[in-house]
Amino acid sequence: MSDGHRDYSDAPKHVVEFYRENHREQTRAVALAKAEDFGSLSRREMGAWEALMELDQLVDESDPDIELGQLDHALQAAEAARAAGEPEWLVLTALVHDLGKVLCLFGEPQWAVVGDTFPLGCAFSEEIIFSEFFSENPDVEEVSFQGQFGVYEPGCGLASVTMSWGHDEYLARVLRDRLPEEALYVIRYHSFYSGHSADVYSHLFDDRDRAMMPWVRRFQAFDLYSKSPVAPSRSQLLDHYSALLERWLPGVLKW
Ligand code: FE
Ligand code: FE
Repeated sequence: MSDGHRDYSDAPKHVVEFYRENHREQTRAVALAKAEDFGSLSRREMGAWEALMELDQLVDESDPDIELGQLDHALQAAEAARAAGEPEWLVLTALVHDLGKVLCLFGEPQWAVVGDTFPLGCAFSEEIIFSEFFSENPDVEEVSFQGQFGVYEPGCGLASVTMSWGHDEYLARVLRDRLPEEALYVIRYHSFYSGHSADVYSHLFDDRDRAMMPWVRRFQAFDLYSKSPVAPSRSQLLDHYSALLERWLPGVLKW
């Protein structure tokens, strides 16, 4: 992109290799199996704050923009939303949006946790980053998965579309019933760049998607453009954000 973010034209080798592996491994069958497995939410019980602290050491290998830890990314995104005067639920969403990356702490490889997400069970759009690597994905051989609709009906809605598995889908499950619908939608689709930015999957959207997608687009500014290489001063922020988490997500969550 011309704004200096998400520029993959000379992405580091590890980013290219990440996407080669991600696009080869993320089949519809794999995504359904991961959703079933991790969707049981039976691995661990921990509060949102604890999860945030756990992510401190994790660096996202799919991101060409930054090598900051995920706690700093969370604080920066939340601060950007707060500075823009966004409603508290969106600031909270910015703070927690990547907590699903705790999947890495459960031993999951990065290809099954991070990176852009995309629909499975229909043709891969060329607008998906590094789409050339889908030639190694076994789903391109599955006849029923071809064409822009594949196994889906026009306008069926993303809720019935199997997305590639990762931290978005996982966290939306962990926090279901705990946050407003808009917040859960932003969390669930924030890595779906070909959908919310390139806008090449609107033939699968229903009325709910059309109503919610503007929030995902609005959220992008805080996720992407706040990726400054300078870490914010933590001590000033931790008290503020632990109180915010206590208000919105008190107690223990099942992971
Ligand atoms: Fe993310
Ligand atoms: Fe993020």
